[in-house]
Amino acid sequence: MPSAPSFQDRRARCAIALSTVSTSSVTGELDAWRGLPALQQPTWDDPAEVEAVAAELAKQPPLVFAGECDQLKNQLAEVTHGRAFVLQGGDCAETFAGATADDVRNKLKTLLQMAVVLTYAASVPVVKIGRMAGQFAKPRSKPVEVRGGVELPAYRGDAVNGLGFSPDERRNDPRRLLQAYFSSSVTLNLCRAFTKGGYADLRQVHAWNQDFVAQSPAGRRYEQLAGEIDRALTFMKACGANPDEFHGVEFYSSHEALILEYERALTRIDSRTGSPYDVSAHFLWLGERTRQLDGAHVEFLRHIHNPIGVKLGPTTTADDALALMDKLNPHGEPGRLTFITRMGADRIRDALPPLVEKVTRNGGPVAWVCDPMHGNTFEAPSGHKTRRVTDVLDEVAGFFAVHRSLGTHPGGIHIEFTGDDVTECVGGGHEIDEADLHQRYETACDPRLNRGQSLDLAFMVAELYRR
Ligand code: PEP
Ligand code: MN
Repeated sequence: MPSAPSFQDRRARCAIALSTVSTSSVTGELDAWRGLPALQQPTWDDPAEVEAVAAELAKQPPLVFAGECDQLKNQLAEVTHGRAFVLQGGDCAETFAGATADDVRNKLKTLLQMAVVLTYAASVPVVKIGRMAGQFAKPRSKPVEVRGGVELPAYRGDAVNGLGFSPDERRNDPRRLLQAYFSSSVTLNLCRAFTKGGYADLRQVHAWNQDFVAQSPAGRRYEQLAGEIDRALTFMKACGANPDEFHGVEFYSSHEALILEYERALTRIDSRTGSPYDVSAHFLWLGERTRQLDGAHVEFLRHIHNPIGVKLGPTTTADDALALMDKLNPHGEPGRLTFITRMGADRIRDALPPLVEKVTRNGGPVAWVCDPMHGNTFEAPSGHKTRRVTDVLDEVAGFFAVHRSLGTHPGGIHIEFTGDDVTECVGGGHEIDEADLHQRYETACDPRLNRGQSLDLAFMVAELYRR
C-alpha cells in the first residue's frame, strides 16, 4: 500500500476545509435531481418534518473529509491501473442496534483477516472499504410485505422505518435519518479507533483469529498463514525494517446513496477546491434499481466529487455502461468510477464480456469489482432468503475468467458478510444446509456470509489472483 498520511493528519489538514453548501451555481447543480424521477424514495407523512430534519443534518459535522475521499480515489486509481485490489464488504442492512463495539469489531476483524489473506497470499495491495457506518437504507422490490394475511409497508432500512412487523414500526419516520447520521458517527469512530489504535497492527494477526481457530477449517488454514506472516515480520524487524504500514490500516466507509434528502443534506463544499463532496461516506454507490441515466440518483452523484460506484446487473447493455461512464466520469478521471457487476453465477460468463470489451475500447478508466451476492439469491423451502456459497465462489471464478481472457484487471470483490457465525448462506466449511438456516438467521435484509465462509472466499480469491 502506498504510504498514506494517517486519518489524524488528514483530518487536521481538512478540518477547516468543509463548509455547508449554501449559495451559488453549485447549489443549483446539487439540487437539480429534485426535478427528476427519484425511485425508491420513502413517502413521508409530513414534508415540513423532512425539511426540518434535513436542516438539522446540514448543521452536523462531516463524517468524512474531502481529503480522505481524494486519498481513496487515488487508491482506486491504482485499482484501475491493475496495481491494487478492492475488498468491500459489510451488512446488507446495518441496524441502529448493531452499532456496538462488539458488532463493529467482529466485522472489522473479519475484514482485516480477509485483507491479510489477500495481501499475503496474492501479494497485492488491498483497498479496504466497509459497507459500514451508513448502510441504513434499502431499495425494495415490493413496496409491501404480507405475513399471515396482514399487509404492511416493506422495511426500508433503519433510516426509514423499523424491522418489526407492526403498523407503528413500519411507519416511515424522518427523524430516523438523524439517528442514521448518529449511528454512522458512532460506527465510524469505532472503526477509526480500531484501525489506528493498535488493533489492526499486523502483530495482531493471531489475536484476530483466537476465538475461531480451533473450531473451523478456514480458521486453521488462516492460522498457518498468520504463522508465516509472523516469521516474516520477525525477520524484517531483525533487519531493521518496521514501517508505519505494519501498525495500522487505511479503512474507508461506504454505503448505497439511496435517500437523496439525506445525501444532499450531508454534502459540503471543500474550501480547498470549491468542489462539493458528500461527507456521509468516503465511497457511495448507486444500486441496480436506481441507476437510470435520466434519473435523480445519477444526477445527484454526477456533481459530488467522491469516488463512486454503480451496480450493473445482467440486463445492463454495453451502451448503458458507456452512457453511465460519460455521465459520471466525463473527464476519465482514474479512480472516480467503479462498476460493481452482479450478474449471477449462471450469467457472468456471458453477460460481462460485452460490457468490459466496449468500456475498455471506448471509455475512460474504470475499476471492475464483482458483487457475487445479489445475482445468486433464492428462497429456501423454509421461506428464508439465502445464497449458496458455491454460487458465490462460482461467480467470482467467472469474473476472474472473463477478465483474464480479455486482458483486463479483476479489480475487487464486494460482499455481504458479518463477523458472527450466522447461518444465512448455505454451504461452506461447516456445510450449513437449507434445514439449518433458522438456527442463526439474523440479517435485517439479505443473507450474509459468516466468518468462515468469508475467509474461504478470501483464500479462493487469493488463489485466483495468483494464477
Ligand atoms: C445491495 O447491495 O444490498 C443491493 C440492494 O444491491 P443491488 O442494487 O445490486 O440489488
Ligand atoms: Mn443486499
